[in-house]
Amino acid sequence: MSNRVAQWIRADIRAINAYHVPPAEGMIKLDAMENPNPWPGELSEAWLQRLRQVPVNRYPDPGARLLAERLRDHLGIAQGHSLLFGNGSDELIQIVMMALAEPGRVVMGTEPSFVMYRMIAQFLGLEYVGVPLTDAFGLDLPHLAAAIDEHHPAVIFLAYPNNPTGNLFSEEDVLALIHRAPGLVVIDEAYHAFARETFLHRIDEFDNVVVMRTLSKSGLAGLRFGFMVGADAWIHEFDKLRLPYNVNALTQQSVAFALEHAEQMDRQCAAIVAERGRVIEALRADGRFRVHPSDANFVLFHTAPEQSEDLFQHLLSRHVLIKRFGHLEGPLKDALRVTIGLIEENNAFLAAVGDWGGSSA
Ligand SMILES: *Cc1c(COP(=O)(O)O)cnc(C)c1O
Repeated sequence: MSNRVAQWIRADIRAINAYHVPPAEGMIKLDAMENPNPWPGELSEAWLQRLRQVPVNRYPDPGARLLAERLRDHLGIAQGHSLLFGNGSDELIQIVMMALAEPGRVVMGTEPSFVMYRMIAQFLGLEYVGVPLTDAFGLDLPHLAAAIDEHHPAVIFLAYPNNPTGNLFSEEDVLALIHRAPGLVVIDEAYHAFARETFLHRIDEFDNVVVMRTLSKSGLAGLRFGFMVGADAWIHEFDKLRLPYNVNALTQQSVAFALEHAEQMDRQCAAIVAERGRVIEALRADGRFRVHPSDANFVLFHTAPEQSEDLFQHLLSRHVLIKRFGHLEGPLKDALRVTIGLIEENNAFLAAVGDWGGSSA
């Protein structure tokens, strides 16, 4: 049995460590950038009412036309631009890379950035080149330009704001990068609900830019829905690789419903942004951490050298789960990332940090 596994599963796949999601049972879950708010009772009832009418014995609409119409209206999508829907934006990243994958081609991103760019490139046998950010987590244009000249990337992924650093890049730098890129640039606006900056309405200024978003961070992580907006010509090609029923019927109806009640998600996201300010201030006031600014729904902070694991474990003992990067070398060494939760959850996190015995950064 295992011989055949070794014989047939690609060696590079066997060498990959599976993406690890830590158990969160009974935890205050501040590790995955979820919106902590459920929908209020009446809204939840109206939503369930809608779901009752979905014929789950039938395949979903392969083109998700109702949803497409709602989303076009909601976002004010221009003529000449198409939408592509994914089972989460993770799937869209995969589709883009599949369309561009050829032996010897390179996918480029920043380092650090969203880990799925590197992982999916690896799954597809593409080389991934991560270009380090500056010390302030900005785009390092001279190094990016040199890397572009050396590798001619088929696609560059930019998370805007970036995960896990939390910041938006300067608009001017992003434009310079777009002009320098020989291939496609994907602007990944997963945290748009918290940053409110976008390239969505500038796509026409270039022939090599698409914008990607997800509803996961703003409140619908469990439904798995992401979308891409781009010129018809790009989306037309990507759509050929999309499996026909990739967005299921319950998700299609639920997202259409959510868009009809967009003000609800907007209110929740505004509350998260307010809490983000409070958490950043409290962590700074503590005095023991290097706390980075954030345009997203999470905050990255550094402890003193070799202390991040101790704080992580202390928080776990208080049933608070955040994300640790301390084991990595480079800019994330001794970094921790906390997702902004409910007021009580943030208070529990801050209280646990407050009675941790570690020393100053
Ligand atoms: C969370 C995240 C995604 C993935 O979102 P899904 O739609 O849930 O797959 C994509 N890009 C970035 C930068 C993210 O942080």
